[in-house]
Amino acid sequence: MRHRIAVVGAGPAGLTFARVLHRDGHPVTVFERDPAPDARPPGGTLDLHAGLGQLALDKAGLLAEFRTLSRPEGQAMRILDTDGTVLRDWHPRPDDEANPEIDRGQLRDLLLGPLDVQWGRGVAEVVPGATDGGVLVHFEDGRQEAYDLVIGADGAWSRVHPTLSPVTPHYTGVTAVETSLDDIDARHPDLARLIGDGSMAVYGVNRGLVAQRNSGGHVKVYAQFRVQQDWHTSLDLSDVEGVRASLLALFDGWAAPVLELLRRGTVFAPRPLYVLPVSHTWSHVPGVTLLGDAAHLMPPLGAGANLAMLEGAELAEAIATGSGDLDKVVRVFEEQMWARAGRWAKMTAAGLERLVSPDPAQALALFDEVQAS
Ligand SMILES: Cc1cc2nc3c(=O)[nH]c(=O)nc-3n(C[C@H](O)[C@H](O)[C@H](O)COP(=O)(O)OP(=O)(O)OC[C@H]3O[C@@H](n4cnc5c(N)ncnc54)[C@H](O)[C@@H]3O)c2cc1C
Repeated sequence: MRHRIAVVGAGPAGLTFARVLHRDGHPVTVFERDPAPDARPPGGTLDLHAGLGQLALDKAGLLAEFRTLSRPEGQAMRILDTDGTVLRDWHPRPDDEANPEIDRGQLRDLLLGPLDVQWGRGVAEVVPGATDGGVLVHFEDGRQEAYDLVIGADGAWSRVHPTLSPVTPHYTGVTAVETSLDDIDARHPDLARLIGDGSMAVYGVNRGLVAQRNSGGHVKVYAQFRVQQDWHTSLDLSDVEGVRASLLALFDGWAAPVLELLRRGTVFAPRPLYVLPVSHTWSHVPGVTLLGDAAHLMPPLGAGANLAMLEGAELAEAIATGSGDLDKVVRVFEEQMWARAGRWAKMTAAGLERLVSPDPAQALALFDEVQAS
């Protein structure tokens, strides 16, 4: 019997789930709130790990295409002291495919392929116990539809999550402000040299500045620091010079070439970092589950999209090859997801404490440990 399966959210989790299920010939519908794939900027680059995101792409039959799009050279990492001294300068081997980078937009298009995504269909809530035994999906436009299984892959502020858990994300104490530079090699060759082929990071007391290359000479810059949760609400984002001045004050005394990353950004977007508690779980509810950030939001330290994709691929594979007892398949999957996500949530929470720390030597030590592992 073919189950009616709906996915809420066309991010890495939802699309990977749908793509693997689609590969196995199972119908699946994806509902996405955004009105179109390019309705908003897709965000910065993602590094996909060999045993996580890349494994998921392999299960979707997309690993070879990923290799043609991804940037192994983007694994380069340089750490500077606040006075501009280069402390570490790691370069990947030419054949190093451990964690290549890919633009989010490229990854989304790769996963989208032939999928049936219903754009502009935001979900308001999900209610188990429909008259036919299914789960009712209520849309923001007032319509409703019944499914046998609803996958909440709708990110940090999931509308499916409250059906399963009353726990909401809490502030980490760290806010990031994002800005970007275009055509860096031609327009900002000094900063292109400073950043190198991949990422560059500088860590000071309770703050850091990270620049990451995307494809096409686009660079995303993240200033991150410990402030109270509502710090950003006092900013007038239309006053770019005012925001710039606030940021430069936070990084006062840092080397002039490093501060150029903030001086040349043209738009600033604050992002207070929220997380769900480490080892967040819920009592199983037949017909509804969560994947990715909706299940286990954690600090942005290179794991979230990877886990989201692998979970999507594994659940889809389990459904496609399972006994037909959908509820049993989901229960087993949830236990596995919680165990793995719990380990990563613990690691990334500890990682954020060390990266944005009163002792900047902690950040350097963390990178040394990762490189040595
Ligand atoms: C600055 C930054 C850098 C990061 N770098 C990395 C990295 O290098 N590697 C890594 O693995 N992870 C990284 N992450 C984490 C990663 O971005 C997330 O963990 C990942 O995107 C989670 O995927 P997801 O599919 O669960 O959710 P999302 O990517 O948030 O996708 C959710 C989708 O659901 C849609 N949606 C939301 N609500 C509704 C609704 N009610 N109805 C319908 N649709 C809805 C949204 O529009 C969105 O398309 C980073 C995060 C940040 C902030």
